[in-house]
Order: sequence, then C-alpha cells, then structure tokens
Amino acid sequence: TTQQSVTVIGLGPMGQAMATAFLDRGYEVTLWNRTPSRADALVARGATLAPSVEEALAANEVAILSLTDYAAVYDVLGPAETALTGRVLVNLSSDTPERARAAARWAAERGATHLTGGVTVSPSGVGQSESLTFYSGPREAFDKHRDVLEVVTGRTDYRGEDPGLAALFYQLGMVMFWTSMLSYWQAIALAKANGLAAADVLRHATDTANSLPGFFAFYAERIDAGNHVGDVDRLAMGMASVEHVLHTNADAGVDTALPAAVTGLFRRGMEAGHAADSFSSLLEIMQKAEA
Ligand code: NDP
Repeated sequence: TTQQSVTVIGLGPMGQAMATAFLDRGYEVTLWNRTPSRADALVARGATLAPSVEEALAANEVAILSLTDYAAVYDVLGPAETALTGRVLVNLSSDTPERARAAARWAAERGATHLTGGVTVSPSGVGQSESLTFYSGPREAFDKHRDVLEVVTGRTDYRGEDPGLAALFYQLGMVMFWTSMLSYWQAIALAKANGLAAADVLRHATDTANSLPGFFAFYAERIDAGNHVGDVDRLAMGMASVEHVLHTNADAGVDTALPAAVTGLFRRGMEAGHAADSFSSLLEIMQKAEA
C-alpha cells in the first residue's frame, strides 16, 4: 500500500497536535504556517514545510485547516485560490454556522470541496480515540476521507450535508462551555473572597457539575413535550434563589455581572407571568431576541 499523506495549514496548538498525530500514524505530512518557525519541531520529525500555500495545497488532495477563524482562512487561501481546484478542505477552524456556509460556497466556486469540522477537544485530546469532532458538508467527501478524519479525533459525528451544521454543534458546546467555565470562575472568586482556595472548592464544584446531566435529561423530555409545569421548581422559588446568589456575591465584594445577568433573566420570566411555572419556562423568553 502507498503511504497516506495529508497537508496541514495552520500550526497553532491545535494544528501542531494534528500534524503530530498524522506523523505518529506514519502519514507523509506537508505543512504551511504564516509563521514558519512553528513548523520546526514537526520538520525535525519528518514533515515537509511547503514554501507557499499553493505548494502546500498541491501536495495533497486533503488539506486540514486549523486557523483562528474563517477570516484567517480567507487571508491564507485567498491569494492561493487557483490552487484550490480539486482539493478537499477539511476546515477545523471554528466560526459561526453562517460563515461556514459562506466558506463552503466560496470553496465550491473555486472547484474545492469544503468539509466543516468542529473539534470538541483541546490540543491534548487531538489524536485520541475517545475524542470527537462534528462534521458536515458533502457526505461523499466525508466517507471517502474518513480514515484521515479519524486521525484527528478517533470519533467523528457526521451531522448532515448543510455545511453550517458542524459549526452549529460546535457552538452548542461552546455556549455551554464558556458560560459554565465563567460560573466556575465566579464560584472561585466568591470562595477566595471568603478565604478559600480553588483547591478547597474543587470537590464541591465537581459534584455540582456532575449533577447537571440528570437535570439535562429530566428537562429535555419535558421541554420537547412543551411541559413547563412548576411541580418541582417554580420560577418564583428560582427567583428567590438567584437573588440569594447575587447578594452573596455582592456582600463578598466580588463582581456581580454574571449573577446579575442570571437574575435579570429570571425577573423577565416573572414579569412575563411565569412565577408558578417551571424555570424551564425561561426558554420561552430565551427563544426570542429581546425587543
Ligand atoms: P490559534 O489561534 O492559536 O492558531 C492560529 C493559527 O492560525 C496559527 O497557525 C496562526 O498563524 C494562524 N492565523 C491566525 N490568523 C491568521 C491570519 N490572519 N493569517 C494567517 N494565519 C493566521 O488557534 P488554535 O490552534 O488554538 O485553534 C485553532 C482552531 O481550533 C481555532 O478556530 C479554535 O477556535 C479551534 N479550537 C481550539 C481549541 C483549543 O483548545 N485551542 C479547542 C477546539 C477548537 P501564526 O502561527 O502565524 O500566528
């Protein structure tokens, strides 16, 4: 069998981890990065640094893109667009679903195939069998290059032909990741204001986070059934609780932007008449942009 080969464009922490994973699997790897020195350690391991984006694209049918965002993708590929014909761009740069759809059209106009990817792990998870990436775009390209994709993360989840879907699933994860991590910072700020260290609350924070999946499952069923009955969790009870959270933080002299935002949402739910409903009724407010 012939040696498998791939191009990797973009050598931030993610791109470097991806190039390393391909080298580990014996792939022939061609690289390009705006800052060429980021390729040094990979070249020492046998990768080839292409002198131009055109040459990096010409080297292989499949090019993995790992850039900060889609603006960077156009910055890199725009000047080399004549080299795009016949290429499969596996775009693992994160951005919005709308930008992913626009990029897929842009690539198609230049004779290239665009597969959108949303990697759900940090650099240390790249190349691991349990790690997951969402994909969307042409099914045929996904199937044909699955072995390459499974080097990046062992698990792949193909969401459909719409190039925006992988970006959407990525963003579904990120909206939870960022707000959850900020809630953790808030808890640590409160703990520290009370003389505790992050290590002192780690166990409790972990137990709290681990309790969430049970709530996710409980509410998913009710939400999809349109059931916001307040039998276990009246919004009025939640309103009192989030005010306690806000006041505990204010009393401790820490920033209250995050608990105040939460309190604001609950208040809008109360004003909309949901006091006796489940706090899942806040979804009705969140589903529409504020007037
Ligand atoms: P970085 O932002 O650190 O990597 C940036 C890469 O993009 C570098 O190669 C950089 O080049 C290049 N780049 C940025 N702007 C331009 C530009 N205008 N022109 C040319 N090249 C440019 O990101 P990561 O490696 O951390 O992540 C890559 C992607 O993966 C991002 O979209 C990120 O959201 C996503 N992701 C990251 C995770 C993480 O934990 N890091 C986890 C999951 C997804 P140069 O070296 O010259 O600066």
